[in-house]
Amino acid sequence: MEPRTIGNIQVADEAGEGSSREALLTLAGGWRENLWDLLSRAHRIRVSRFGRAVRLCSIVPGKLGGCRGDCRWCAQSSHVTAGGLEKVTRTPLAEIVSEARVAASVGAANIGIVNSGLRPSRRDLADVIHAAEEISKATQDRIGVCASLGELTVEQAQMLADSREIRRYHHNLETSRRFFPSMVSNHTYDAKLQTLQAAKSAGLAICCGGLFGLGETWEDRIDLALTLRDEIQPDVVPLNFLVPIPRTPLANQIPLQPLEILAIIAIFRLILPDADIKVAGGREKNLRDMQGWMFYAGATSCMIGNYLTTAGQSPEQDLQMIQSLDWEISTHLYKKT
Ligand code: SF4
Repeated sequence: MEPRTIGNIQVADEAGEGSSREALLTLAGGWRENLWDLLSRAHRIRVSRFGRAVRLCSIVPGKLGGCRGDCRWCAQSSHVTAGGLEKVTRTPLAEIVSEARVAASVGAANIGIVNSGLRPSRRDLADVIHAAEEISKATQDRIGVCASLGELTVEQAQMLADSREIRRYHHNLETSRRFFPSMVSNHTYDAKLQTLQAAKSAGLAICCGGLFGLGETWEDRIDLALTLRDEIQPDVVPLNFLVPIPRTPLANQIPLQPLEILAIIAIFRLILPDADIKVAGGREKNLRDMQGWMFYAGATSCMIGNYLTTAGQSPEQDLQMIQSLDWEISTHLYKKT
């Protein structure tokens, strides 16, 4: 039985998952003083529920750039000044399949096909389903395919689920409901929640998390985690850390420090003890030589390879890091039903 304190802060139960918003805010407010106790608790929860398994996942852009969204961090927004990715480019099918083959060969359990744009067209939906079929054939089903296409209607979510090739939908809430309008003005938090509910009702597994280092407070981070816990119950929670991109409105944002990132991972593990917590974009640049600590802080998976608009380290470096820390790569897949 775990003590009901972390440092000197009272939590409701072993994981802190039943703790009140106030208790979690107090815990977050004291993260510096209580960091090692916090990491140690998150680590014990992680090991008790997932053992030493680490899952790998990879992404490939299906469509890049030219998005009408005005998300302040994003290089793919057409609102970004000249020199950004103003025009839409589509990745050839052969390239998508080849990326999936490489990801499967290094042990990735999933590959996400990620499109720019606020919502998918009929062509986008048809293309992603066709790409998933080709990936299944080329890899003999060794890798699961996820889709990330923006906001979905109920019918579009059902179409993806009925394809039986796409088993998981990725759509981040990004931050708290309160802070979201400071970052985005032409689409809404409610539309995001409706998309996630539509995907879930259609029977798709859900991958939903956030982006940190935007200038949000700890209150915003806790509220995002509580929305995930209470309203979405995602299967996978990707945590992304901003890498400021030139010419975007957040180009001069000061990056988060590695210890604060570890505290974010640990608090998400406490609040969402059964979710697959994935450290995604910005890992290498923000955690730097503390990357290996992410699994001790409660993460269960990480993204490998390149991100959409920034480069990641090589899969070989990631495999070496995982093996030298004695974690085990999991081959768990989201199987077709
Ligand atoms: S909707 Fe997605 S692709 Fe478009 S600007 Fe926002 S984050 Fe970028």
